[in-house]
Amino acid sequence: MKLLEARIREDGLVLPGNVLKVNSFLNHQIDPELMNTIGQEFAHLFRDDNITRILTVESSGIAPAIMTGLALHVPVLFARKTKSSTMNNSLYTADVYSYTKKVTNKISVDQKFLLADDNVLIIDDFLANGQAVSGLLEICRQAQANVAGVGIVVEKAFQTGGQLLRDQGVRLESLAQIASFADDQVHFVGEVVE
Ligand code: 5GP
Repeated sequence: MKLLEARIREDGLVLPGNVLKVNSFLNHQIDPELMNTIGQEFAHLFRDDNITRILTVESSGIAPAIMTGLALHVPVLFARKTKSSTMNNSLYTADVYSYTKKVTNKISVDQKFLLADDNVLIIDDFLANGQAVSGLLEICRQAQANVAGVGIVVEKAFQTGGQLLRDQGVRLESLAQIASFADDQVHFVGEVVE
């Protein structure tokens, strides 16, 4: 998605540890118009898949997920990283190692919001080594829900997550694919080097 690539070039900052900081439009401050365009793009990609629910993980997945849910007219469920005192029903849970925070979180969703007849679209902001998406897939497995695919805003294609998902036969749609951070610059997959 050219608009997203342009925004990453303009506002993204490459940090040590292969982390891209995009907190001016995605991870802290949010650009609602860009999120709306992203949501419409995911909705377009999965328009024929009879999606019944979007699943993401708090907090940075929520913005693109909610705009996708709005475009597809389906509910958006986000896995929580901490158990809220109001979550007293039975839960589906999975352990997820956080790439950026270097801690393991137990993510959970209330069983009443994810059903065996659901056809789920998983959305997240970044794909690195695939831990977050694997946790969400595990939660869908526990619920016996079908996963139609995974929509990622920014895939770091030089890390292992994309291959991990494709090897499991998971349909993966990434709106921006980063090939490398060579010389602290963002290089996208397929970009023409001058
Ligand atoms: P994974 O679980 O695929 O290893 O990493 C994906 C998760 O880690 C995402 O949910 C995202 O929050 C975070 N993450 C991974 N890489 C980056 C990055 O380069 N920048 C930012 N802002 N978050 C990242």
